[in-house]
Amino acid sequence: MASKALTIHGPWAWAILQGIKRVENREWLTEYRGPLFIQAGQSLDSDDAARASFLKLGITEPKYIRGAIIGEVNLCAIYSLEEYLQKYGHDPYNREFARGPWCWVFENPRICEPVYCPGNFQLWPVKNPKEEFHFPAESVCPGVSLQEIYEKLLDHYGPQKWWPAESPLEVILGIILVRNSQWPVAERVIAGLKAKGLLQLDRLAELSEEQLQTEIRSTGRQKAKAKLILSLVNFWCEKWNGKLMAYLARPHEILRKELLAFSGIGRETTDLILLYAGNLPVCPVSIYTRRFMIRHQFVDEKADDEKMERLFYTHMGQDHAVFNEYYALLVKLGREYCAKTDTKCSTCPRGSMKPG
Ligand code: SF4
Repeated sequence: MASKALTIHGPWAWAILQGIKRVENREWLTEYRGPLFIQAGQSLDSDDAARASFLKLGITEPKYIRGAIIGEVNLCAIYSLEEYLQKYGHDPYNREFARGPWCWVFENPRICEPVYCPGNFQLWPVKNPKEEFHFPAESVCPGVSLQEIYEKLLDHYGPQKWWPAESPLEVILGIILVRNSQWPVAERVIAGLKAKGLLQLDRLAELSEEQLQTEIRSTGRQKAKAKLILSLVNFWCEKWNGKLMAYLARPHEILRKELLAFSGIGRETTDLILLYAGNLPVCPVSIYTRRFMIRHQFVDEKADDEKMERLFYTHMGQDHAVFNEYYALLVKLGREYCAKTDTKCSTCPRGSMKPG
């Protein structure tokens, strides 16, 4: 699989790989986070004032290598100059080299034997990095599989026990209500429905859309949610005689097609219902799954959900209990360590390993 590289002029490429310069100043943004090869460009930056920064920090410049990939870093976050200085400005090394407008934050620099190659603009692809690049033994992290990552996350966090509910209907309501909301809010609404005896298909079916909207208002988007819940509930009452378990005890390909035909329900919600209410071996893809898979180069940014799902099937088999845990663990990892613009790779339970 191709990796990504960034060309940086000397002496900055050298300073970054030495761990001296921890920020790269760019005019442009990228969504990409994760490992990045650093190519030392052919030209040397002639900004004397900037290079005087080295002297200020007591660093003597070495002889630079030019026109070669000289190592790898993790691109962890990108901030505006103002945000960056607020966060990292207390450190003289960070302050000295930050210019903006966008500050790319690098962690875990690893120097490799130089691989001479032309540079390029923006982020550019490098093919077969494992065959071409030779890192000193102490900087090599083992390639890891989805299975190993799963075991590591499970070991770190323990079982997540999703989905906390007493019946498939309660699971489904939770999945719909938590969308664009927070779990404690959805949980309170479900407890309220339960206290009123409304956690039954036939009782819910008696409600008007307006009545249900009132019950679930605190979770937000109540109009769309009430409409979807009532159309599902009415379908199960009319076509399945209220037998939700029987409805869910069918092949997941058929169920997925049927559920996706309802207005207001997407692929992830459908797969969550199949997995957590139906105990079926499907692998929902959340924004956290996607971010993780891209940042660790299991897939590239253009990959669709089907491709990610296939990878999980290939590496993890088709065990609903494993998918149940994996999905929940990646959500937890994403929320705690791997946010959209900020990553905590150095302390992340996944962070000490190089992508597989
Ligand atoms: S999963 Fe952890 S190591 Fe990987 S990019 Fe996110 S924060 Fe960094």
